[in-house]
Amino acid sequence: MKYTELKITTNRDKAETVQAALLDGGFDSMQIDDPMDAVDIAEHQDLYKYDYINEEIARAAEEAEAGNDTIKITLYFTDDEEGQTRLKEAEGLISAIPEVSFEAEDTGDDSEWLYKWQEHFRPTKVGRRIVVKPGWEDYEAAEDELVIEMDPGMAFGSGLHETTSMCIKALEKDLGDGSERSYDPSRYPIRVLDVGTGTGILAMAAVLLGADEALGIDIDDEAVRVANENIAKNGLEGRISIRRGNLMDGIDYEPDIIVANLMADLVIMLSPAASAQLRPGGIYITSGILDIKEEIVKKAIEDAGFDIIEVLADGEWRAIVAVRR
Ligand code: SAH
Repeated sequence: MKYTELKITTNRDKAETVQAALLDGGFDSMQIDDPMDAVDIAEHQDLYKYDYINEEIARAAEEAEAGNDTIKITLYFTDDEEGQTRLKEAEGLISAIPEVSFEAEDTGDDSEWLYKWQEHFRPTKVGRRIVVKPGWEDYEAAEDELVIEMDPGMAFGSGLHETTSMCIKALEKDLGDGSERSYDPSRYPIRVLDVGTGTGILAMAAVLLGADEALGIDIDDEAVRVANENIAKNGLEGRISIRRGNLMDGIDYEPDIIVANLMADLVIMLSPAASAQLRPGGIYITSGILDIKEEIVKKAIEDAGFDIIEVLADGEWRAIVAVRR
């Protein structure tokens, strides 16, 4: 789904008036960017669990201390009639407040693909060996092919999305006979943790490609249900379990490989925990990263204790493969 962003710029003096006017109008969900927050984050890294302070935050903190009191308030509206009517209402509420400027801008949200439903789902070869097919289609597998049968339900992950297939391609290199990577893994990878499992596709691909077991995590109940269904359909219940959860919170799994097809900001948040649980030589595969976010995600991954060994690209999407130092 596309969104329209209403970007409001004001100063500390008027920010409260703007917020109050919007709240009165029933707009209770807004993002507020205050340069003083950056100072706070910079001073309390531990509290915010930021393992690193990125340049953007550092710069914002500097500016705030130099007296920048520009406050940015952002609201999101859906790209339909109701959303656009609400947008006009919001603009009406703030237009009379002095020292306030605003503009509306259409945006393709980078989380949009998470919910994209695959309408034209046919048996599809992903990578060298994996074939993903819906339950309602027959498929005669060639000798070397590994077939995953699934019905995506409302959960994401038919295997057709670029971000998913790049993960499968990376998994093929790290599992299998491991001969494709130039580094020398100290132990053969056997346990795979799939963060943001969706339909369970990557966890299933991992065990079919040679992992002994996998654990999939998803924050969405529907994904957990669909993933369990798909795992049963493929007879993999004994080797894959699925848990509902937020990223790696409360997970103690000691994986050899972590695969996470999320999106840039979530990958950044996940990286310290991924580093803490992977052994040296363990593999961290991340995807769902837009090209414009590649550098910042790479830096976060490196800062968390990884060396990057490959970046896969497909259109505007990137997947990053890293090895734990
Ligand atoms: N692994 C699948 C699905 C990727 S879509 C594939 O590659 O095709 C991303 C999934 O991450 C969604 O199912 C979404 O529900 C889940 N997700 C989003 N935020 C999460 C979080 N904080 N913790 C765990 N899962 C999350």
